Order: sequence, then C-alpha cells, then structure tokens
Amino acid sequence: MKIIMLGAPGAGKGTQAKMIADRYGVPHVSTGDIFRANIKNETALGMEAKQYMDKGLLVPDELTVKILLDRVAQEDCRNGYVLDGFPRTIPQAEVLDEALAAQGERIDYAIDVDVPDENIVRRMGGRRACLSCGATYHIEHVPPKKEGVCDVCGQPLVLRDDDKPETVQNRLNVYHEQTQPLIDFYRKKGVLKTVDGTQDMNDVFAAITAVLDA
Ligand code: ADP
Ligand code: ADP
Ligand code: ZN
Repeated sequence: MKIIMLGAPGAGKGTQAKMIADRYGVPHVSTGDIFRANIKNETALGMEAKQYMDKGLLVPDELTVKILLDRVAQEDCRNGYVLDGFPRTIPQAEVLDEALAAQGERIDYAIDVDVPDENIVRRMGGRRACLSCGATYHIEHVPPKKEGVCDVCGQPLVLRDDDKPETVQNRLNVYHEQTQPLIDFYRKKGVLKTVDGTQDMNDVFAAITAVLDA
C-alpha cells in the first residue's frame, strides 16, 4: 500500500501518517523529519536544507527527490509506505510517478487532509515537536503527559523555528502556489480521497481508515 498525504502545513498529515503507519504496518516517511534529523546532526544536507526551511521556502526539488528516492528504495519500504510532506511540487510528483512506473508500480491513494488557512495558523502556534524522534504534540489538542517532554523518548519538546507566525504565512503562500496543484494532479489519476481535517484527530483517522479498508 503506497499512500501520499496531501494538505497544508499543519493540517495534520504527520499525525495521521503515524496512525496509518501503526495500523497498516508500513513505514512513515517524512521528508521534513529527514531534513530536521540532518539539521540536528549538522550534516551538509542539513545545512543546505535549513537555509530554505527557516524562510518557509521549499528545499530545491533536485535535493529533495534524491533523498526521497533513496529512502523508499530501502528494504522496509518494499511493501509500501505512507509519504508525509512529499511530493510538494508537480515536478516532484512526476519524478516519483516515473520511478514507480519503471517498476510497474503506482500510488494507491493520495489523501488530502483538508483544513482552511485560519485553523492552520492557530494549530501551528500550539505545535510542539520532538526533534529526536519526530513525535508531534499540541499544547491544547494533543498535550504530552509531562509538559515540554516527549512521551515517546523523554527528550525536550520545541516550537519549530518555522512554526513561528511570521514564517507560517510564507509557508501557506508556498503551499497554495506550489503544492495545492497536486490535488488536481492526483484527482486526474483517480486516486484522490479528501477528508475533513477540521474534525477531532480520531474522527479524521476514522474517515481515512474507511477509505483504506473499503
Ligand atoms: P509541515 O507539514 O508542517 O509543513 P514538514 O515537516 O513537512 O512540515 O516540512 C518542513 C519544511 O521542510 C518545509 O517547509 C520545507 O522547507 C521542507 N520540506 C519538507 N518536505 C519537502 C519537499 N517535499 N520539498 C521541498 N521542501 C520540503
Ligand atoms: P502536518 O504534518 O500536516 O504539518 P501535524 O500532524 O504536525 O501537521 O499537526 C499540526 C498540529 O496540529 C500539531 O500540533 C498536532 O498535534 C495538531 N493536530 C493534528 N491533528 C489535529 C486535529 N485533528 N485537531 C486538532 N489539532 C490537531
Ligand atoms: Zn521524542
């Protein structure tokens, strides 16, 4: 099962992708998490990506595509995966499509988690992230058991640099310009499924499993 999560930054793609990964036993592949791990470890890739991420811009396609294709070529992705945050541009989607087609494969579902911009701005300010394991919380909606500490690995939680309000608006603009066209791209391929992302996270997940189990 190969799934793509679509939706604005902060729509809940990561939250849902992790739940899908747990339930269906496929890896959760997040290009954002891969970049953040590289930034934390101060790799050359991380330093390059950070320049764009801090401004709310997309990391260039060439770099991003290479990282993603390397990741999905790994053994654990053999039976499928849930992609979170990739593709984010039409050229990225085309490269992925071609790589899959070369192996006689295709994307099974593109799930659009639909949330209006005004809800997004509120959600991002409350998001707290664990840069060690990629877990995500929300100070009101999804609080950790102990304030400021990751339930999964015990590391401190942070407000991501790019979740500050001045950057969030840039990211939303970038989303509308460069990523939203993917909704039509996957609709034309007949794999688009839209879910209402403003619901409680368990209700969003129920809508997704209804699609995947149909
Ligand atoms: P969110 O879903 O909250 O926007 P992500 O963790 O998916 O956050 O992405 C954070 C940042 O990482 C993006 O704003 C962008 O700079 C970079 N990034 C992640 N995935 C991609 C991608 N597929 N193409 C280009 N840049 C990406
Ligand atoms: P994305 O991966 O699309 O950027 P996240 O999954 O990180 O989004 O979610 C963004 C923020 O909103 C996080 O703080 C998360 O805990 C919170 N969140 C996720 N889903 C919901 C929901 N259905 N209702 C309220 N808050 C949510
Ligand atoms: Zn953690």
